[in-house]
Amino acid sequence: MGRSIAIDGPAGAGKSTIAKSVAQSLGYIYVDTGAMYRAIALYFLEENVDIDSESEVKEACDAIDINIGYEGGIQQVYLNDENVTERIRTPEVSKRASITSANPKVREKLLSLQQNLAKANDVIMDGRDIGTTVLPNADLKIFLTASVKTRAKRRYDELVKKGEKVDLESIEEDIKKRDKQDMTREISPLAQAEDAVLVDTSELDPTEVRDKILALYNKKS
Ligand code: C5P
Repeated sequence: MGRSIAIDGPAGAGKSTIAKSVAQSLGYIYVDTGAMYRAIALYFLEENVDIDSESEVKEACDAIDINIGYEGGIQQVYLNDENVTERIRTPEVSKRASITSANPKVREKLLSLQQNLAKANDVIMDGRDIGTTVLPNADLKIFLTASVKTRAKRRYDELVKKGEKVDLESIEEDIKKRDKQDMTREISPLAQAEDAVLVDTSELDPTEVRDKILALYNKKS
């Protein structure tokens, strides 16, 4: 088992930005588990898999091979050997990922992949259930959050920067819906682990959040 930091929180709280920069500071690998759920959602979308059909979901999960690689320190996600890193970032995939990730077969498929990465490497892993389920013995657990308005604006700016035509209000609605789905599902809902430190990023810039996490980690080590 390597060293590990778990970062959980709702969409747009800044998890990936922060996790990437903490990983860089410590020389650990950054594992973005949301990207894995997104890759499965992309497959379900493209293959028209009916999430309510147990047999279709099982067949799809058996046919899906997800792999993670790194290019210049940046995580790449491969779905059946195709690099889908860019294609999983659309609002449509975001919505679908929140639905497909509530399925027990889908979660089972990704759990061992995530735990094996943490066995073989020192990791910063972010997601919704890292501190509670994937790495219950993580060396440090952070629950990162921010107001819905701040999170929606961040997602909006991110998508606009990529040249996408988006609407702030509908992003805010999507985020609220996704939070609700992620927090109320039966298996591994989004929740703050009992021993996680709550960090609200609404009024902090990424460098301040990174330094705060590094200070917490150094105190623990
Ligand atoms: O973090 P990101 O927004 O990329 O995650 C996409 C979706 O994947 C989330 O809305 C959530 O439903 C799901 N997810 C999850 N468990 C994780 C990471 C992501 O259920 N550990």
